[in-house]
Amino acid sequence: MNLVDETQDLLAVLEERPPDAWSEEDAGPLAERLRHVLRAHNHRYYVLDDPLIADAEYDRLMEALRRLEQRFPALQTPDSPTVRVGGPPLDRFEKVRHPQPLLSLSNAFTPDDLRAWYERCLKGLRPVHGEDVTPALIAELKIDGLAVALTYEAGRLAVGATRGDGQVGENITRNIQTIRAIPLRIPVGDGPEAPERLEVRGEVYMRKSAFEALNARLVERGDKPFANPRNAAAGSLRQLDPSVTAERPLTFFAYGLGPTTAEPPPTQHRQLAWLQTLGFPVNPHTRRFTALDDVLDYCARWTHDRDALDYEIDGVVVKIDEVAYQETLGNISNAPRWAIAYKFPAQEATTRLLDIIVNVGRTGAIKPEAVLEPVQIGGVTVSQATLHNEDYILKRDIRIGDRVVVKRAGDVIPQVVAPIPEARTGEEKPWRMPARCPACGTELVRLDGEADYYCVSADCPAQFIRLLEHYASRAAMDIEGLGARLAVQLVEAGLVRHLTDLYRLRREALLALEGFAERKADNLIRAIDASRQRPLSRLLFGLGIRHVGKTTAELLVRHFASLEALGAASREALEAIDGIGPVIAMSLVDWFAVPENRHLVDELRALGVNTERWPEEAPDGGAGEATRPLDGKTFVLTGTLPTLSRSEARALIEEAGGRVTGSVSRKTDYVVAGADPGSKLTRARELGVPVLDEAALRALIESPAT
Ligand code: NAD
Repeated sequence: MNLVDETQDLLAVLEERPPDAWSEEDAGPLAERLRHVLRAHNHRYYVLDDPLIADAEYDRLMEALRRLEQRFPALQTPDSPTVRVGGPPLDRFEKVRHPQPLLSLSNAFTPDDLRAWYERCLKGLRPVHGEDVTPALIAELKIDGLAVALTYEAGRLAVGATRGDGQVGENITRNIQTIRAIPLRIPVGDGPEAPERLEVRGEVYMRKSAFEALNARLVERGDKPFANPRNAAAGSLRQLDPSVTAERPLTFFAYGLGPTTAEPPPTQHRQLAWLQTLGFPVNPHTRRFTALDDVLDYCARWTHDRDALDYEIDGVVVKIDEVAYQETLGNISNAPRWAIAYKFPAQEATTRLLDIIVNVGRTGAIKPEAVLEPVQIGGVTVSQATLHNEDYILKRDIRIGDRVVVKRAGDVIPQVVAPIPEARTGEEKPWRMPARCPACGTELVRLDGEADYYCVSADCPAQFIRLLEHYASRAAMDIEGLGARLAVQLVEAGLVRHLTDLYRLRREALLALEGFAERKADNLIRAIDASRQRPLSRLLFGLGIRHVGKTTAELLVRHFASLEALGAASREALEAIDGIGPVIAMSLVDWFAVPENRHLVDELRALGVNTERWPEEAPDGGAGEATRPLDGKTFVLTGTLPTLSRSEARALIEEAGGRVTGSVSRKTDYVVAGADPGSKLTRARELGVPVLDEAALRALIESPAT
């Protein structure tokens, strides 16, 4: 059995029969299998920087082995993965023996685990420091990168080393020197005097946005993308050629001290403050608490807020603040007793990709979607995930039948991150975008510069169902009761083929539908009737014209008193409006040029739907100008963004009130750069214009307007 199958088999065995249900006799062979598999995964993860399974799956196996060894101590071997740290250093690097070992951390997966750890600490401290000892606690974000030890001699960075197996690491000094966040000389500025010798420990990591851009670049070149920012950071740092590392956007947070000739401050939080004054970046979210409950609140808060950060964290590290107490508690074989990692629920898992289907959106965009063997991710069963677009699938060579890594973070739709080619059996099938729309059979088209294929048929039922759902949505015409399911029902029953059919629906026809009693039919008809009197901007938004979102609709209505007036506007007239760029203008002109759409507007009006501006919507009416997040800001785009095409990025910026121009000047507010940026990026740097990646652009748009 290959490693992936063996791992899945073990996970299934443990699911069926947890570690506590094994007799000592049966546990022997199981522990041996676990050790074997964990060693192999350690090698992939620590040596090759290329794991085959998700961390949570690895953690499950490790916990099982730990539990078995705890129950049956005779099973423990001196070289068990449970007592080791990391992996051996690679021969291709010079080796560095750490004067003081770099340890791993024990894990807590639940609040109870954390409470039990705290109780153990108190039990260890009381005999030495008295019964009423109440140690302060430091909670730090657990940055998901890789540990390094930086040795400074006479204020100069002398050696940078990886953790390796904890005793011996790799000398990666030249690579470390390329990371700008790491000072080559300390103190930086007028900080305190640097000690003769100082070892600083911390985490080298890659920001999420930089990781996405790096992966986009790798995929574009036909290279294998990294599975996550940690592997990208590890793979980038452990390069033989420092110029490769230099190109990789790595950065650093210091979180602790190794041996030093100085008298270090006596608490963890003061040590961090001292490191900061010497010039090291330390994480700003570290907090000191005196009550464990506050630490638990901190953990709960970051479990929820982790996705808002531009770097990955996989937990919270809780440490006893006082160094004297740390010394009393000491270490176990591979981890300190005075610190613990509270691990967040998983965001990634591996599973099988059963099929790829395509969905038709309301604008006709065809979106491939993964049908997955159901898998638990952080307590939620995931059986579908997005695959973005055709290029995403082809460039990553994702095939039907593959084992794949799936990520589910926060409220974002789960996505397939990458295939695991090592797990292939030869039965996997490459996928192609179908030539025709699955709903109406019209040939699909892909426009220049767009990542998506489109069904351009005006009669596509799938598109129309989405449009109907959008039209009736709360932000648009707010037709209560008309959601996704009813939209399908109405269209499939042939009752609604055009938006205008809504206003002709008869009670009797509705009563013939499954699940419709008199009250439901009456309510729906009443709700549809009420939608005749909605502000014009809602109707305009509800029509689902590409790139015309809610804010753009409101802006347009401030300039045009009716839908007819808007339909008669030229492209130039539209572009003259501050906040309307060529993409939106073109989209509007194209939409109104289609005879069916003009007919739709006329018919809606004839059916009594409001197509005139309400007084409150006029420029001087009511609340005044709505501010949008990018109002008045000028942008320049360069390079290939990870998920947005050029025109999509442009539309997104314009929709949020910004303007996109072609060249960088002092008047440019931001340059948005993707993979392989051109000279515009250089120019931006020369002029000191802030540079954003796609994630930062999205964050800017989502931030409240100021
Ligand atoms: P760890 O990463 O869980 O914890 C120890 C490390 O935390 C330290 O070495 C340090 O680098 C880091 N850290 C981040 N912020 C810190 C802070 N503020 N203070 C102190 N330390 C901080 O332990 P580990 O032994 O390096 O690795 C275990 C992890 O690696 C697990 O998450 C496991 O899932 C993963 N792993 C995965 C695979 C796989 O195949 N997927 C294989 C091996 C290990």
